Amino acid sequence: MDKKKGNLFILSAPSGAGKSTLYKALLKQDQQVRISVSHTTRAPREGEEDGREYFFTDPESFLDMIAEDAFFEHAQVFDNYYGTSKTSIFNMLEQGLDVILEIDWQGARQVRQLYSEAIGIFILPPSLKALEERLKGRATDTDDVIQRRMAKAVDEMSHYKEYDFVIVNDDLKDALSQMASIFMAMRSKTSVIEQKHTNLINDLLSM
Ligand code: 5GP
Repeated sequence: MDKKKGNLFILSAPSGAGKSTLYKALLKQDQQVRISVSHTTRAPREGEEDGREYFFTDPESFLDMIAEDAFFEHAQVFDNYYGTSKTSIFNMLEQGLDVILEIDWQGARQVRQLYSEAIGIFILPPSLKALEERLKGRATDTDDVIQRRMAKAVDEMSHYKEYDFVIVNDDLKDALSQMASIFMAMRSKTSVIEQKHTNLINDLLSM
């Protein structure tokens, strides 16, 4: 796939690392950033809205979309399917917007193969204890679900090395400023500037 004007970011973390709080704070302060809304077959949690957190879909429709090649990437996480549709990201990247994919390590691998310029950021919790506390904080989940999520979290964290950047989310303010700096720095990459300012560069070198 050709390099697009905007940057594509992959944001991964175990559930409970504070990933959503972090990217929501970034979206508020940086008008050039958008989040891709994934499709999922899992049921909405309380407070979640179709089209905002996810497009909530039944397994049959999800499988139809796979058959139609509508997904940029998709994966099975726990007992559900999750996927990023192609339309949800391409238009925004074409417009020069930076797009965040909030996906797991399996999806991240697929994305890197399709689009090598994608920039990976992994969020770690400050401790296992903090992670467990945060997972317990979700009233909707049973003990059994929490234990499964802990095991899954450790598995997810074992993939941190596959990412370009790692942020330890101890203090939200610090973590946010680290993330904002990564986004800013990536906008000055030579390949990005070359594409954005092609005319300027040609002009400057034309003498
Ligand atoms: P949750 O059910 O807690 O919202 O998300 C569970 C996991 O699914 C998280 O690790 C999240 O990053 C991952 N996930 C969410 N959307 C996608 C997606 O579109 N593709 C992939 N591969 N993973 C996703």
